[in-house]
Amino acid sequence: MPNSIAIINYKQCHPEQCPDGICVAVLACPLKILVQEDPYDIPFANPSPCKGCSRCANACPLKAITLSS
Ligand code: SF4
Ligand code: SF4
Repeated sequence: MPNSIAIINYKQCHPEQCPDGICVAVLACPLKILVQEDPYDIPFANPSPCKGCSRCANACPLKAITLSS
């Protein structure tokens, strides 16, 4: 879905449950839309539209990311 926006549900996001506190959704995004400044920090999503590939949503083990058009 082109021009999607990734939204992180902060009630479901728990970086301490990801390997070494590293957000695997950040690693999965080819466009660097998602950012995590340091391990164990809460990631945030750049509000710019992305290509909606869902890699971030699929990578997050806690299903904390949804895509909105
Ligand atoms: S992978 Fe999911 S739960 Fe883990 S830090 Fe990233 S958004 Fe949060
Ligand atoms: S849907 Fe794809 S391009 Fe958009 S933030 Fe997620 S991984 Fe990145």
